[in-house]
Order: sequence, then C-alpha cells, then structure tokens
Amino acid sequence: MRGARGHVRAAWLLLAGLVAGSGVWATHFIAMVAFDPGLKTAYNPAGALISLLIAVVFTGSGFAVASAERSRTNEVAGGLLLGTGVAAMHYVGMSAFVTQGHVIWEQATVGASVALGVVGSIVALTVAGRARTMGRQALGGGLLALGVCALHFTGMGAITIQPDLTVPVPEQMLSAGLLTLAAVSLAGLIMLGGLGAVAIESQTSRSALERIRRLADAAYEGIVVVQDGRINDANAAFCGLAGATLPDLLGHTLIGPMLTFDDVGQGEDGRREGRLQPVDGCRDIPVEVFSRLMDDGARLETSGLTVLAVRDLRERRAAEEKIRYLAEHDGLTGLPNRNSLKTRLAAALDRVEASGESLALICVDLDQFKEANDQHGHLAGDALLVETARRLQDAITAPSFAARLGGDEFVIVQVAAGGQPAAAAQLAGELLDALAAPAAHEGQAMALGASLGVSLFPGDGRTAEALLANADMALYRAKEDGRGVYRFFKRDMDESIRERRAVARELRQAIVAEDLVVHYQPLARAADGEVCGFEALVRWNHPVRGLVQPQDFIAVAEESGMIGALGEWVLRQACATAAGWEKPLRIAVNLSPLQLNQPELPGLVHEVLIATGLSPHRLELEITESALFKDYQRALDNLRRLKALGVRIAMDDFGTGFSSLSTLQSFPFDKIKIDKSFVENIHRHERATVIVRAVLGLGRSLDIPVVAEGVETQEQIDFLRGEDCAELQGYAIGRPAAAEDLSHWTAVDAVPAVPAGPASRRRRSAA
Ligand code: C2E
Ligand code: MG
Ligand code: MG
Repeated sequence: MRGARGHVRAAWLLLAGLVAGSGVWATHFIAMVAFDPGLKTAYNPAGALISLLIAVVFTGSGFAVASAERSRTNEVAGGLLLGTGVAAMHYVGMSAFVTQGHVIWEQATVGASVALGVVGSIVALTVAGRARTMGRQALGGGLLALGVCALHFTGMGAITIQPDLTVPVPEQMLSAGLLTLAAVSLAGLIMLGGLGAVAIESQTSRSALERIRRLADAAYEGIVVVQDGRINDANAAFCGLAGATLPDLLGHTLIGPMLTFDDVGQGEDGRREGRLQPVDGCRDIPVEVFSRLMDDGARLETSGLTVLAVRDLRERRAAEEKIRYLAEHDGLTGLPNRNSLKTRLAAALDRVEASGESLALICVDLDQFKEANDQHGHLAGDALLVETARRLQDAITAPSFAARLGGDEFVIVQVAAGGQPAAAAQLAGELLDALAAPAAHEGQAMALGASLGVSLFPGDGRTAEALLANADMALYRAKEDGRGVYRFFKRDMDESIRERRAVARELRQAIVAEDLVVHYQPLARAADGEVCGFEALVRWNHPVRGLVQPQDFIAVAEESGMIGALGEWVLRQACATAAGWEKPLRIAVNLSPLQLNQPELPGLVHEVLIATGLSPHRLELEITESALFKDYQRALDNLRRLKALGVRIAMDDFGTGFSSLSTLQSFPFDKIKIDKSFVENIHRHERATVIVRAVLGLGRSLDIPVVAEGVETQEQIDFLRGEDCAELQGYAIGRPAAAEDLSHWTAVDAVPAVPAGPASRRRRSAA
C-alpha cells in the first residue's frame, strides 16, 4: 500500500479492509458459536451484519491512516482506529446474541478487553509498518491476531448469563449452525478473492520486472544495483564493462575495490566521475556515474537499494583528446599551430623571465615554396612542408620548439642558456644550412632555401605579439636583402609602417583642406575620334611631394577608412564639373570596392545628381571585379539601385581579375573597359592580341560596348578600330588634365581628339 498511489492504493485498502475485517469478524462469530451456555441461543442477523460492516470499515481506515505516512504517529493512530473498530465490532456482535436468560456485564473486564484489543493493534501495526523482512511482517500479523483474540476471550469472560426460560428466542433468528456456515463462507470467499488479487499483482509485477530487465540490458549505459555496498544486480552493459558475468559480480563490493571516484563530493545532478577497475584485470576505464536511491524503502524488495548508471567515457575522452590535438596542432606537419604558439610562447616567456635564460623568436619563410607548389603540384608542396618541419625540429632541442603559422611560414622559439644575439645567430645559421639542401619528392629534387627574421627578448619586445611582429619585420627585410639570409630586427625597420601611418594622417588633413584635385582624361569614339566623355582621376596636391598619383594613396585611404569621404568628394567634384560643360559629355567616376559595399551609396549618388543638376545618364560609375567579392549580394543590390537611378555602370580593368566572365554574367554592365596591360601588348605578344580580340568579340555578342584603356600608339588605334572597338582612352587620345584645361574638348565647336580613321571592319563588310 505504501508503494502504491491513487486508484491502486484505494484498491489495496479496500482489499485489506475486506480481508482483515471479515477475518476478524469470522474469528469473533465462530468463537461465539463455540460458546455454549447450555441454553437455547440464536443470533440477530441485522446485528451480525452491522458488526461485519464495522469490522471492514474500521480495519480499512486503520490501515489507511497507518500507511499514509511513515511515522510513529500514523502507526499509533492507525492501530488505535483498528483496535477501537475491533472492540466496537465485538460488542455490536455481542448485542446480536440472544439466549434464554439475562446477560450480565462485568464493567472492569469489558474495559480490560477493549484495552487489550487496542494495544495489540497498535503494537501490531507499529511492528508491521517497520518490517523489512517477511518474518517481521508475519510477526505484525500474529500480534494483531493475538490482540483480537485477547479482546474476544476477555470480552466473553465479562458476561454472566442468568437463565430465565421465560425469555423468548425468536424463531426467525439465525441458528448457530447457519451463522457458522455464513461466517466461514463469507470470510473464505473474501480471502480467496484477496489471494487471487495478490497472485495477479505479483504476476504483473514479475512481467514488468522482466520487461525492465530486457530494457536495462538493451541500454548502452552500465546499470548496477547496490545493496549495503554489494552488487545486487547489473545489466549486460555493466557486466561488459566489468569484464565478468552477472553471477560472478553478485555480492562483489562495488565502491572501493571496483569503482573509485576522482572527486570528493557528489555534484548537484548526482553525477560523479571516476574509474572502473574491471574484474579481469584490464586497464581501468574512465567512467561517469549517476547514482540514485531506488525508492523510499516502502517496498520490501527495493528498500535500501541504490542504482548506479555507469557510462564509459573512453570514447568521449579519446574524441576530446583528438579535438584538443587538432585545435593545437597543424594537421599537415603535426607542429603546434598559430593558436598554441601564442600560449606556448607566453609560457616560454614566463619561464625565461624566472630562470634568466635567453629567448629568441625566429620567423622562417621558404624562398621557393610558391614556385615548387606551382611547378610540382600541391602534393609535392605538402611533402616540402613536412620535410621542412622535420629539419626544423631536428635542429632544435626542448624546451626550444617549432610551430607552423600557416602556408610556408614557420616559427622557432629558442630558449637558450647562452647569451644573445650569439645563440640566435648560431641557430639561424644552422637552420639556413639545414634548409639549404634540396628536398626529394618522388625522385625529383626540389630546392628549398629559406629566409629568417629574428627578434630577441626582451630588447625587441616583451610580449608574444611584439616579438612576432618584429621578427616578421626582420623576415621581410631578409627577403628584400636577397633571400637565403637571416636578419635581426632593428628599430628602423618599422619606419616604413610608420610612414604609411603618416601618409594616412596627412591624407585626412588633405581631404579636409581640399588639397586633392580631380583630373579628367578624355574618351573618344573609335569610329570618328570625337571625344564622348571623360574619366575623373584623383590626384593629391602635396605641399612637399608635389602631385601624388592615386596608386600611392588610394590603398592607404581604403585601409584607413577614408575612401568613403574621398570618393564622395571626387563624385561631387566630377559631377559639378561635368554639369558645367557646354556639351552634354559623359563623366566616368571610379568606385572603390569599399564604397560599393556601403548601403548608403545609391542615396548619396542620387543626392549628388540633384545637387549638381547632372542628368543621371551622363554619369558612369566604374567598378572593378574585386568590388563584387566582398559582399556579393550587397554589391549587386547597390548596382541595381544605382542603375534604377539611370546611372550607367562600367566594368573597369577587365581581364585582370580571375573570373571576369562570370562577373559579366552576374550583372548587365553598360560598358567593358579592357585593361591597359592587354592593350599595351597588342602586336607585341600574340596572347595579348588574341585576348583583346576575344574581349571585343565578347562585347559584340553580349551587345556591351568595349573601351580600350591605355591606348598610346597609332598602331593600337588602327588595330582597335579594325576590331570594332567602341571607345578609346589613353595618352594617344589625351592625358588626364585639370578641369580648366578641357575647353577645347568640351566646347560645342571642339575638334576630334584623333583624326577619323578608315571605316571599321563591320561597316566595311556591310558596304
Ligand atoms: P583606372 O580606373 O584604370 O584609370 C586609368 C589609369 O590609367 C589612370 O591612372 C590613367 O592615368 C592611366 N592611363 C590613362 N591612359 C594611359 C596610357 O595611355 N598609358 C598609361 N600607361 N596609363 C594610362 P591613374 O590616374 O594613376 O589611376 C590609377 C588608378 O587609380 C585608376 O585606374 C583607378 O583604379 C584609381 N583611381 C583614380 N582615381 C580614383 C578615384 O577617384 N576613386 C577611386 N576609388 N579610384 C581612383
Ligand atoms: Mg577607371
Ligand atoms: Mg582601368
């Protein structure tokens, strides 16, 4: 009853009430029948029935109270109820007894009988309630029977019958024989029913147990049940882990000899980690253990049991180990990677600071790697890197170590007892020698050779970052100095970097002070040489350096985030200038990739067009292919919005990117500008000539006009005209010039920039 809840508990209570109540009642009535005063006797059936009801109701309630909670109070209260019920049943039953005489009661004996019944019940329920064994439970039952009998026989002793033959014994009353039959059959039936119920229940719980065992055996985790520290049961997985069969394991002490825990206390979730020592003497297994007390001990068969779920952590540990290894090492060479270099270097720095040893950081870069990779393929390249790693490691001893930063860049951290720079110089020399010998791959000899840059602790930096940056700078110098050498870091090396910073600072001021100027280079129609537009090209009017070309500052502007402001200024300037021309010629403005990725670009262009009054179709924006790489979707989005304004979009420097064709496919460009590197090689290199011809053909078939950039000679002009090129740009047409020097091209009566040539091929063929 204690283990059960709800309906099941109610059913058990009913059953217990019926069985115990009718049992007690039958005891009483059969014993009463055995009582023979030597007079005619009979029993009132209503009284007999009421007393049965009392017995059932009170025993049922007594058990209900006693089993509701595991406490002495409940047990005593339950016993009290039960005892009182039995007493009530007895005396109500006695009142159903009719005989030829007067029944005289002896009060004291009645009181004693009630007391015996109640005390017996209390003791019985207290003993049964705490019973963990069958024997104790039987003892509880016996005590209850004893209490009931004591009550009954003491109670019977309390009466004296004074015969009086005038007292009638009614005929319709139950005779002794009938009552016995009724009591025996009723109690018997109820008890049989009870037995049946118990049998069904135990069968059900046995099959449930079997199901649980099958389930437990199917579980991936080891499950083991422990009672008083000894193994009581285990599933197949646990037997597998422990390397023994279940019969061998039963009775073994688990915690201590077999299972030890790493941590002292138990976690909040009942989870602990430990090691399981298999019985067969194999290596112990790292495990994770969840333990739980099986229940509150209400059921005899489960009380005091602890269930432990034991999970094998070997696979997880191996995976964690592998992940850690991969996170810290380079997959190809097995050397520590960039990530772990930082932590290892920091540890090495701590070490030398404490020990007084010296530390040098050497950056290694292979001189011929790219060539070897291109020439012999990636497999050969990989073999070269593995060989390099091996040679580097052979050249040093712990605690010095090597790491790979990526590509063909390696780092050596030298921890030496000797003084610097002598120790580092010696090691650098040895490394150069070691890497100088060619490496063989599949019978082919490949030149290695390396350049080294060295920085020293603490003179060249006290942190990992500073040492790495400075060694890298020294490496850069070693490469500049002809490769195959090592260089120590010198303070003046970071001058070039400082110079770039100075340029950025000056440029920022120049944008504000309007020290920038826009020059305009004409574009001419190839057919008649008529100037049809200009490209705006920015220059920097530097107070000291004079006119600075865009190559020298556009990159700095992009790096330092000033390109937005610079580009806006050029756009405004160019549109305003073009709006002032007599002829409605087109104006082309270059856009940096960064600008094309700014969501506010279309809005800005729109605003500038309105502010300057330039008609949108006169504005042409030139973008390079790389502009589409950063954020393809955003760039394309911007291009569409710009085009919706009526602005034209030209693809600049066509042919220099590596996927020019697919770029053309992704957006309907209004113009293609062939890069000047192809144009300048027309007639000089067969390949360039073929490429120019192919691009012009492509433009024709896609119906996109093509412009040739960097046209410098008449020969190029003739060729391009012959190939049906739409427009020409270059020194042969006109050099970039200041806005005020353009009037001879922008005036209504301007002359062609180049004399009109012979009719183009297409027109010729049409003629
Ligand atoms: P680009 O857009 O391809 O511009 C053409 C470049 O070729 C210009 O150089 C021009 O002076 C040069 N050029 C023109 N004709 C000839 C010729 O016959 N022979 C030779 N050898 N060169 C010729 P520039 O002005 O130095 O501009 C270089 C690059 O700087 C431009 O290449 C463009 O990408 C960028 N740039 C110029 N102005 C701006 C600007 O305002 N904003 C942005 N984002 N980039 C600009
Ligand atoms: Mg351009
Ligand atoms: Mg160009």
